[in-house]
Amino acid sequence: MGNRIVFATGNEGKMREIRMIMADIGIPVVSMKEAGVSADIEENGETFEENAVIKAKTVMELTGEMAMADDSGLEIDYLGGAPGIYSARYMGEDTPYSIKNAELIEKLSGAQGEERSARFVCAIACVMPDGTTLTSRGVMEGRIAREIKGENGFGYDPIFYLPEYGCTSAEITPEKKNELSHRGKALREMKEKLRNYLDQK
Ligand code: IMP
Repeated sequence: MGNRIVFATGNEGKMREIRMIMADIGIPVVSMKEAGVSADIEENGETFEENAVIKAKTVMELTGEMAMADDSGLEIDYLGGAPGIYSARYMGEDTPYSIKNAELIEKLSGAQGEERSARFVCAIACVMPDGTTLTSRGVMEGRIAREIKGENGFGYDPIFYLPEYGCTSAEITPEKKNELSHRGKALREMKEKLRNYLDQK
C-alpha cells in the first residue's frame, strides 16, 4: 500500500488540524501542494458525502496515491437546512463572514429557543488507488446565537452558540474545538476505519 495520504485542501488551517488528529496513525498526511498537484474541483454532489468523495477521487486519480477530502457546512433547521452544502458559497464565496453572519441572525429574528437549532456537519472520504472508498461523518449540535461573538475559529463560528458551554464556537480554544467539532469527530472516525482497512491489507 502507499506510504502517504494526500489531503484535498489548500487550506493550511485545516491541514494543521488534520495532521494533529492523524499524527498517531503512522502514515504522513500531505497537502495537494506538497504532493505537487492542483485542481479546481467542481463540487456538484447533493450531499456532504458525495462532495467529499468527488474531491478525494479526483485527487487519487491525479496522484495515484491514497487521497482524503472533507466537505462541511452549517445546517439551520429554521431555514430548512440551509445553507448546508452551499455554506461556503452562501451569499457569494467572497462575501465576508461578518455580512453572512449578520444576515443569518436577521433571518432568524423570529425564531425562539429550540427553533434556533443548528449543526455543523462534516463528511470525510478516503479513496484508495484500488477504488476502495471509506466515508465518515461528524456532527456538532448548537443554536444560532442572537449576536456575533468571539475571535477564534472561522466562518460561521461567531454565530454558533454551544448551550453546554454558554458561548459560541468562536470563543472556545482550538484544542477544545478539535475535541467537540464535526471535523474532529469525522476525522477520528475515519482514522479508525483507515486503521481497520490497513490492518486487513
Ligand atoms: P468546505 O471547505 O467546502 O467544507 O466548506 C465549508 C464551509 O462551511 C466553510 O467555508 C464555512 O463557511 C462552513 N464551516 C464548516 N465548518 C465550519 C466551522 O468549523 N466553523 C465555521 N464555519 C464552518
